[in-house]
Amino acid sequence: MDAPRFRDPQTRIEDLADEPILVVCPRCAGRASVTPERLTCVGCALVRSSGPRLPRAWNRPIDPFFREPVWLRADCCGGHTLRAFHARHLDLIERFVAAKLRERGLGDRPGMTLIARLPTWMTTAQHRDEVLRTIAKLRATLS
Ligand SMILES: [Zn+2]
Repeated sequence: MDAPRFRDPQTRIEDLADEPILVVCPRCAGRASVTPERLTCVGCALVRSSGPRLPRAWNRPIDPFFREPVWLRADCCGGHTLRAFHARHLDLIERFVAAKLRERGLGDRPGMTLIARLPTWMTTAQHRDEVLRTIAKLRATLS
């Protein structure tokens, strides 16, 4: 398989909130989506406007605004949790993990990008196949 070069697009985790984050609906356990203002579920028609003003939680398997569990999450590599806010987030992780030649890039704030913050278990060569399999499994839940 051709594993192309990956260059860090300098995306910050906060940048990913520019499109709806997929979460588990608190009412029907189906797939709902969250923006800073609102949680909506197509399955059960639940609509919630912004909840209590909690500090935003970016680096946990919950959405940063309503703190519902993210839809895209799975156990991976023995006790770890692979998670993503939405398809674009999943794609970004996949492209980095699949690439043989990884350039983390030197942006204006090196060390702070989403790619730079990926945990070591996700980026070690020995976990590559399992991480990619888990990403494929999660992507299948989006169709
Ligand atoms: Zn629902």
